[in-house]
Amino acid sequence: MRQLLFPKYYRDFKCIGPACEDNCCTTNYEITINKEDYQFMLYKSKLKDEAKNIFERTPDRETYARFKLDEKGHCPLITHDGWCRVYIEDGEDHLPHVCKTYPRIADPRGTTLVDMSLTLGCPEAVRKLCFDPDALTFYERKERVKGKMPKNTYKRPAYFKTIRELVRDILYISDASFEESLYTVGVALSSLSSYENSESKDVFEAIAQVRDQVAQGYPRMMFQQQASSFMHQSVFLSCCMERIEIFLVHYPDSNRRLRHLFGEFRKLLPEELRTEPLHKLSSLWLDKLSNPQALKRYHSYIKKHPQLWNNYALWQANDMDFPKSVWQVYSTRVIFLYVYFRCCLILLAQDRELTDDDFVLVVQSLHTAFHNQNMVVFMKQVQFGFDHCLDLATTTGFSLTPLILLQTMKSSV
Ligand code: SF4
Repeated sequence: MRQLLFPKYYRDFKCIGPACEDNCCTTNYEITINKEDYQFMLYKSKLKDEAKNIFERTPDRETYARFKLDEKGHCPLITHDGWCRVYIEDGEDHLPHVCKTYPRIADPRGTTLVDMSLTLGCPEAVRKLCFDPDALTFYERKERVKGKMPKNTYKRPAYFKTIRELVRDILYISDASFEESLYTVGVALSSLSSYENSESKDVFEAIAQVRDQVAQGYPRMMFQQQASSFMHQSVFLSCCMERIEIFLVHYPDSNRRLRHLFGEFRKLLPEELRTEPLHKLSSLWLDKLSNPQALKRYHSYIKKHPQLWNNYALWQANDMDFPKSVWQVYSTRVIFLYVYFRCCLILLAQDRELTDDDFVLVVQSLHTAFHNQNMVVFMKQVQFGFDHCLDLATTTGFSLTPLILLQTMKSSV
């Protein structure tokens, strides 16, 4: 038997198919197919006559075959109004595994536990996760494993629950802004870093001490004492834009939503700058990011959905199986992504109120890019670029730059 742990947003998810603003069958994703599904399509499907020409084998890869996408990057079996022809002709049970499961993820955590979640490359998944205050209520289900249990020697450390609870409790400090809470998480994990992978009982004591310091408000005091600067934010945004623009040039037929978002930013520019690369316009972004009206609109939107960022930060903890890897990698990732998303939303709020569609666009468009292996190093490249521009690593140490970036947001909270 194994235990499946699934959150409410996973349980509530249903593909919205033709109503989807970024249908995954038309986004130029590689759609792989396993041997069993491939053979069904070629020999038993009602579409078997045309199936011969729509797959190609991938003998050099772990996967068995893949769909040959059409010239627009669409699945060849999608109808003009967005319905799947396998679904229509052969029924849901015969959808290839990847089509049946996307955007669902099943991550084994050792031999007996599986964490179920959704990838945020799907816009409906972002809605289900971020707009429901109860999205992260967890449920359990036991499941009999057919055949042998898979080998997986990974075991969660004894302090797993204690440190996860520390992070969650900090994020839910009721009178703190999200920036303050995130800063506190970063400071807490930084001060606990010497206990990583420790088997000793001292780790529990150290976590309890950090909890005391948090309760007495020390990290928040540090946050409040720092000078703030919009310049850091605009430089950071430019570093993100640079990596994304390089990515979009490299993959010209992919990520239409990220292109659309960057197109919206371009509309904010004076006519003579509209053909310039966005990342070269840091000083212009500085004006936009410090626009008091846009900041006001951003805060009033977030106020309507107070769970948005907490749900996102806790989704990241699940997705990374925090504290499995280096603890500060978690806080750095959440801080950087949060600052990028926040900057994007403030740009969109220059002359109008923000909508839920804006939020979904900003979060989902970057997550679709993360489907591409070349974007796995995005965070590292952004951090490197940011440190380099402001010469931060030499004065502060590489691992502190995310905290410094966050401090710069004090004046705008
Ligand atoms: S991206 Fe999500 S909602 Fe949209 S078609 Fe794919 S699975 Fe359905």
